Amino acid sequence: MAQNGAYPDTKLFINGQWRAGAEGKTIDVVDPATEEVIGKVAHATKADLDAALEAVDKGFKTWSATSAYERSKLMRKAAEILRERSDAIADIMVREQGKPRAEAKTETMAAADVIDWFAEEARRTYGQIIPGRAAGVTQMALKLPVGPVAAFTPWNFPINQVVRKLSGALAAGCSIIVKAPEETPASPAELIRAFADAGIPEGVVNLVYGVPAEISEYLIPHPTIRKISFTGSTPVGKHLAALAGQHMKRATMELGGHAPAMIFKDADLDKAVKVMAASKFRNAGQVCVSPTRFLVEEPVYDEVVESFTAAAKAINVGNGLEEGTQMGPLANERRIPALEELIQDAVDHGAEVKTGGRRIGNKGYFFEPTVLSNVPTKARIMNEEPFGPVAVFSRFSSLDEVIDEANRLPFGLASYAFTGSADTANQLGMRVEAGMTTINHNGLALPEVPFGGIKDSGHGTEGGSEAIEAYLVTKFVTQTA
Ligand code: NAD
Repeated sequence: MAQNGAYPDTKLFINGQWRAGAEGKTIDVVDPATEEVIGKVAHATKADLDAALEAVDKGFKTWSATSAYERSKLMRKAAEILRERSDAIADIMVREQGKPRAEAKTETMAAADVIDWFAEEARRTYGQIIPGRAAGVTQMALKLPVGPVAAFTPWNFPINQVVRKLSGALAAGCSIIVKAPEETPASPAELIRAFADAGIPEGVVNLVYGVPAEISEYLIPHPTIRKISFTGSTPVGKHLAALAGQHMKRATMELGGHAPAMIFKDADLDKAVKVMAASKFRNAGQVCVSPTRFLVEEPVYDEVVESFTAAAKAINVGNGLEEGTQMGPLANERRIPALEELIQDAVDHGAEVKTGGRRIGNKGYFFEPTVLSNVPTKARIMNEEPFGPVAVFSRFSSLDEVIDEANRLPFGLASYAFTGSADTANQLGMRVEAGMTTINHNGLALPEVPFGGIKDSGHGTEGGSEAIEAYLVTKFVTQTA
């Protein structure tokens, strides 16, 4: 691992070895706060993928034959190593991704907790004994690991996106090839290194980078791979899910969202604004569960918009390594025109820019925390995931109206609500079409609770005991003397 704060070059990890790509190709890594090239990441070609496939096949035989107790011990050792190295890893993550250092450190420490939780939970992967119809017949439903996994993860949470897939797979007894993000490669490599240094057997965990589409098109149909897990945009997810289906591979899809944040007139408004502003601008809004459509009940609309705007204006935007920075740059340059176009389109449709709306400076991908008010539903930003620091406000007058608006889009990942009414809270919990609803606080994404979407936001969960199910198959065995 890098010493003295230097940003490390990243290699592939195949069959227990850190190695360059077979053809020696690399991809540059850019610091989004300075636009400087800070390092390189090895680029896998077909020969490397073949080596990874051979390794993951061998790794599966070793790991699936290792007891859940031993697997759990090794995973907890990796978690401890990650904690010990979390300061250095946080620095690396800030350099490549841009988020404030405190967020990078939290992400690293939370990853260790995810590993621990899955390590413990997998020891309780119980099957069933089903009473037989005849004396002497034993019927068992066994839970067995599905096989080698291919996982594809994005750049917004370089470690967190990998660790959920990795921990679920390893806990269940699966081996894995991770295709981690080329834009933020070094911090996920440190996660893999923690497992390597904890003594994970050769081939159980493999790490590759390269051209995402080429890698997924090669790995998903390959007979060695039995399970796919992808986090990223809905269009790519649909494409990969179709490919997985064509080859009869199990798939977990964690895709885009467009979370409604519903604020009712009977809510604790100070709390609603405080919690939602922190959630909106975390990681510069590049979060799949980020609150996006702020739907506020008519009588408190102006008050909420004004205090949310004040909260947005107070955010200190800067280099994530600097003390006091609350929001870093966008992680890559292409988010800037994407946001500018969405904001311009909203204005063209009559929206008012309460604050922000522009890039900051011309060095580094910094963007102003932005609040748009009175945004009509036909504006693109009311329909497309902005994936940036933009809060979009509109009003509602009744519970049915706000639920209809919450459910209007094909997405169904996170949803937020603030209300003082238990009845409203109950109705929202039942009627909002989302994989997750959090009411009067932000309680999402703990390792022990479900995390996933419905509708175009994907299927499957990456948290809670069901997240391990995704890596298991049920095998029925019946026997008699
Ligand atoms: P993108 O659709 O090009 O890529 C999203 C992710 O998918 C990246 O990590 C990319 O490497 C990967 N990817 C793309 N094509 C792939 C393929 N054929 N096979 C395997 N992996 C592939 O978008 P982007 O510009 O990187 O990000 C913008 C959009 O992506 C956002 O608007 C957001 O909707 C979505 N996104 C979602 C998440 C999330 O947490 N759900 C994270 C990052 C990006």
